[in-house]
This record gives sequence, C-alpha cells and structure tokens, in this order.
Amino acid sequence: MAHTPSANPQDKRQYFEQRLRQRQQELEQAVANTVVQALSSNNDDNRDVADQAVAGYQKELLFSQGTVRSSQLRLVRQALARIADGSFGDCVRCYQAIGAKRIEALPWTPYCINCQERIERGEAEPTASVA
Ligand SMILES: [Zn+2]
Repeated sequence: MAHTPSANPQDKRQYFEQRLRQRQQELEQAVANTVVQALSSNNDDNRDVADQAVAGYQKELLFSQGTVRSSQLRLVRQALARIADGSFGDCVRCYQAIGAKRIEALPWTPYCINCQERIERGEAEPTASVA
C-alpha cells in the first residue's frame, strides 16, 4: 500500500514531518562527510604543484557543496519549526498557501511559487529569517 498524504491535516503534517526529518538526516550526514573529506584532503605534503592545485580546487568544491547543503539544512530545520508552530504550508512572505504540488516536491520551501519567482527576478527581497 502506497503511503500518500490524506486529506486529514494531522496525517498530512505527520507525512511532511517524516519526509523533512529524513531529509534533515541525509543532509546532516552529507555535511559531516564533506567536512571529513575536506579535512583529509588537506593531509598530504608530498605533492607537486599541479596536484596541489587540483586538491585546492577539490577542496573549494567540497566546501561550496557543504555551503549549499548547510543552507538546505537550514531550510529543512525552519520547515520543521513551521510544522511545530502550525504555519507549515503557508508562504513565509505573503502568507498564501503554497501549492500542493510544490510543497510535495519541495516540502522545505519557505515560499509560494509567485514569491519564489519574484525573488529570483530580483523584484522582491527574501524574507530576513530565511536569507
Ligand atoms: Zn508567497
């Protein structure tokens, strides 16, 4: 039997909470692994300059991946906080309900599609608490 969100708001809340917690764990694991990799790639002195350049680039890449994951992790944590305070599913900017398809695909998104597009076009400021 497939587990799908039902019309019951309580069930729906639990369904998204479960998905968000799972995502949080994945991201925490990924961030931890990235830190370990970045640290261990720092540990070799017997390299020529080309190797060091590659290692430097890889390290930078690892750190930037880590940054992306850290900000995703922050979004996931904030979504969990919104589940706890009952505001989950509403856009944090305009307070309209986020579309069902969008919240299903991106349960951690703080914005409805309209606000997201306006922010991406530079027409609106991201809300301070999620910036
Ligand atoms: Zn909005």
